[in-house]
Amino acid sequence: MINIKRYIFEKLFHPQVAIINRPGFILSKTSRRYGHHASIKRQIFYFEDIVSKLQIETINIIGQKEASRLWYLIGKDVGYRYLLMGSGKKPPYFLLDQILQYIVTNLNGAGLTFAKEIIFEKNDVFIFKGNNNLVCRQSSLGDNFAGFAAGIISFLLGKNVEAKCYCKCPNNCKIIVDPSHTITYIVDAEKLKPIKNYASLNTPTTNENYDFPAFSKLIAFDKIAIQKEGVFYLDKLVIIPYEIGISGIINQKYDEFGLSKFIGTVTKEISEKTWNQIKIQSNDKKQNLKFLFNTLTALGWGIFRHKFEDDIIELTIKSYPISRFSFNFEIYQLNGFINSALDNKYEIIKIDTNESNKSIKIRFKPLKDSS
Ligand SMILES: [Zn+2]
Repeated sequence: MINIKRYIFEKLFHPQVAIINRPGFILSKTSRRYGHHASIKRQIFYFEDIVSKLQIETINIIGQKEASRLWYLIGKDVGYRYLLMGSGKKPPYFLLDQILQYIVTNLNGAGLTFAKEIIFEKNDVFIFKGNNNLVCRQSSLGDNFAGFAAGIISFLLGKNVEAKCYCKCPNNCKIIVDPSHTITYIVDAEKLKPIKNYASLNTPTTNENYDFPAFSKLIAFDKIAIQKEGVFYLDKLVIIPYEIGISGIINQKYDEFGLSKFIGTVTKEISEKTWNQIKIQSNDKKQNLKFLFNTLTALGWGIFRHKFEDDIIELTIKSYPISRFSFNFEIYQLNGFINSALDNKYEIIKIDTNESNKSIKIRFKPLKDSS
């Protein structure tokens, strides 16, 4: 006997194909959705440490309550967008359990284990249970995952619902989504859906750049290790694949909370410390910079080329991730990584984006007093 639900589900959410052999790109492709054209999701890898430490610093500056609220809103937007990217419209109710199971399996495969199990209660109450979840295992801030759960359930039910978070990570994580919770944040689908030309802006067009490393090469050369629970390691640090819109959502919400300057400064500092743990120990600074840019290329950030003009670094990222959101969060990280690689403090003096050419050019200048 064919499992009819499974059969329909697989027809709608056709198995995804991952593309990891193109430098600068990590893509997952769903070959069919509701009988329409294929959908593409571009992802880039981030360091867990950067996200968790940003959360910890945020708690220190605005307090637990505000930080929880901020990251809940981020999570809800991200969860809703996650499904907008996949199927685009609300699936039939009878597929709900199948779809949730599928989402959870996917997340677990990337080390996001806040929901190893989902309990379906009456009246559309859902309890997500897990432990040792990435990010909140370090920050104990599980609100973004509660928000995420609220976002996906809101999408699947076709009405806004909220979730409450009971994170005691790494020991256990519990999230309860309940339609009877008071609505505190209504997502705006129009502002979350992918831009029309998302696929064309974010897929490789030519076969050039094969002299740059791809993600598959890092795996082949044992630079990336994968643990049992789907946790990816680069050297000794955990990296997590995020859809490219997520960092923009994070940045946007920090802006809305009046924390634009804070996120820039703090992300730069955290990123510098993070790269210090990864960088090759060499006195050849140019070699260090090349290693940094090659690694980021392989992690899906686009294809990095750079040149020096005296002390100024002119960095061009071809095929950088383009979404409806800003690229600022990545730029703050880049600034920190460069500071680490070159053992000096740099500042951004100019950013030129050229969307039709799918490239961004960033110029960095050393701060005089730190050399
Ligand atoms: Zn947790």
